[in-house]
Amino acid sequence: MTDDAVAPALLSCPTCRRPVATRGPARPASFPFCSERCRWRDLGGWFAERYGVPVAEQAAPGPGEPAQ
Ligand SMILES: [Zn+2]
Repeated sequence: MTDDAVAPALLSCPTCRRPVATRGPARPASFPFCSERCRWRDLGGWFAERYGVPVAEQAAPGPGEPAQ
């Protein structure tokens, strides 16, 4: 028995959650991401965030917290 026997044929793209083929001709070169865009968005999440692409919620100092 190998891992291939139980591995799913599809995974969700870590970035956009679209189904991505894990093997066969449908498997993208950017695997496990569905596209190069999603791969870069994930690897450079902080980078994309600087350009206004919402990637993750970040706790920002609120008015109730003392600023230094
Ligand atoms: Zn994607």
